[in-house]
Amino acid sequence: MSSGSQAVGERFLTRSFRFAVMLLVLAAASACSGGNRTGRTSSDSQPYELTPGVSVVAVIEATKYTQPTPTSTPTLSPTRTAAPAATTPSTPQPTSTPSPVRTASTAKKLAPRPALKPDRTRDVDPKQGIQAVVNRYYRALNNGDLPLYESTIDPTNEYWLTIQQEQYRIWSKNYGDTTARAQVQTAVPVTGPYYRARMLLSLRTRDGRYGHVLQSWIFRRVGNSWKVTEPTAKQLGALRSKRGAGVTIEYYDWDRASVDRVLALSERALAKSARHMNVRPKRNVYVRLLPAYEVSPGLAAGLTVGYYRTSTPNLLFLRSPGSYGFGVYSPYDSPYAELEMTAAHELTHLLSDRRVRLTEITFWMSEGLAEWVADRGSSYELERALREGELFELSEMTEYSAVSSNLGLAYGQSKELVTYLIERYGIEGYWRLVEAYESSGQLDSSFRKALKVSADRFEQDWKNWVRTKYRVEGGP
Ligand SMILES: [Zn+2]
Repeated sequence: MSSGSQAVGERFLTRSFRFAVMLLVLAAASACSGGNRTGRTSSDSQPYELTPGVSVVAVIEATKYTQPTPTSTPTLSPTRTAAPAATTPSTPQPTSTPSPVRTASTAKKLAPRPALKPDRTRDVDPKQGIQAVVNRYYRALNNGDLPLYESTIDPTNEYWLTIQQEQYRIWSKNYGDTTARAQVQTAVPVTGPYYRARMLLSLRTRDGRYGHVLQSWIFRRVGNSWKVTEPTAKQLGALRSKRGAGVTIEYYDWDRASVDRVLALSERALAKSARHMNVRPKRNVYVRLLPAYEVSPGLAAGLTVGYYRTSTPNLLFLRSPGSYGFGVYSPYDSPYAELEMTAAHELTHLLSDRRVRLTEITFWMSEGLAEWVADRGSSYELERALREGELFELSEMTEYSAVSSNLGLAYGQSKELVTYLIERYGIEGYWRLVEAYESSGQLDSSFRKALKVSADRFEQDWKNWVRTKYRVEGGP
C-alpha cells in the first residue's frame, strides 16, 4: 500500500512500506541481541531473524542475481569503461555483447572528441570509487546536507534526480534519528556504463536500536567521479513478454537475465495464492517487472517490492531485484525470496479483487488475507503491542490511513486476525464474511450473518488466541 500519489477511486495495495520494514529489521535485531525470542511461531518463516548459521548461505545466494559476470562482458572491464562511457550518454544495447574488437573501434571513434577530458579515475577500482560516493551519500543524509547529497546523484538523468530529492525528504522525515553507513560488498558491470553494487547497510537509532540489511543500487561514472543512478526509460530497452503457467511476465531488456527466475517464482506464488484462497484463476495474470522509477506507474519515490492497483485488475507490478526501488532485504536471504513472498501477497490481492471488490472491504480483511498467504513470519510490533496493550481496535482498522501510525503492527495484527478466522471458520468463512461486509458495510451484522458471532465476541476470542500464540499470557 502506498500513501500519496493515489488516484481517486483507485486502491493501491503493496506489502512493502519499506521504511517500516527497515524499522522492523532494527527492532528484530535489538530483540535478538537481547536474547528475546518470544513471539515467534515454529511454522512461520523468519526472514529477519539473525541466525548466524544461515548467513553464509544467504550471502552466496544473494550474489547470484548479479547478472553478467565480469568475464562474460569484456567491454565492461574497469579500465575500458573509463573515458568513453563517462562522456557519452549513449543508449546501451543490452541484447548484444560487443566483442573486444568492436569495443576497440568504438573507443577509437570517440577518442578524438574535443569534449573528452583525461579521466584521472580510470585506474581506480570501481568498488573503491563506488564506496567513496556511497560514503558521501550517507554522510549527507546523516548530516542533513542536501547539496552534498545532490552531488552524489547522476546529473544527466533528470527524472532520477527528482526521485532522489524526494528520497532525501522521505529520509529526513523518517530517519532523522538514524545514523546510516554502507559497506560495498560487490560491484559488477551490468551493461553499457552501468555497474551494480551490493552493499551492507548498517542503521543505528539514537535510542540504541541497530540492524543490518542489504541493498543493491546502480552506479556509473560521470566525469571523474562515480554517481548513484538508474537507467533511463530509453536505456532499459524494449518491453517484452514471456508466458508461463497462468502468468505472463512483462520485462525490459535490462532485466533479461532474471526473467526466467521471476517467471518461475511468480508461477509458484500464483499457485500458492490460488490454493490457499481456494479459487481457480480463469484468466491469465500479468506481472510487470520494474527496473527503474521512470517506468513505475504511480509510485513517486516510494521503496516498494511490489504493488497491485485496482485500476489495472489483471496486472501486478514487481520491482526488479538489484534496483534502488526494491529497497532493502535481509542479509540472511535472497532478494528473490522477498520477491516471491511479495508476489504471493500481491497476487492474493489481485485474485480476491475478482471475487469481492477490494475497495469495499476493510484494511485488515484484505491485508490480513494477503499476509496469511505470503506467510512472512511473526511480527515484533504485534508482540510488543500485546505486551503493552496497544493493539488496534478491530473497528478502527478500516483503511490504510487509519493505521498508518504503525504499519508494522497493522500488517502483523491483520495477518493474525485472518489466520485465526480461517483456522476457526475455514477459508469459506472468510469469504462469507467479506462478501457480507462488501454488500452491507456493517461489521457487526456481517460477523453475525456470516459466522454467527458478534464482532466483539470474535475480537475477544482472537485476543485470547493470539496471546497464547505469542506467549503473552493474560495481557494488561
Ligand atoms: Zn497488501
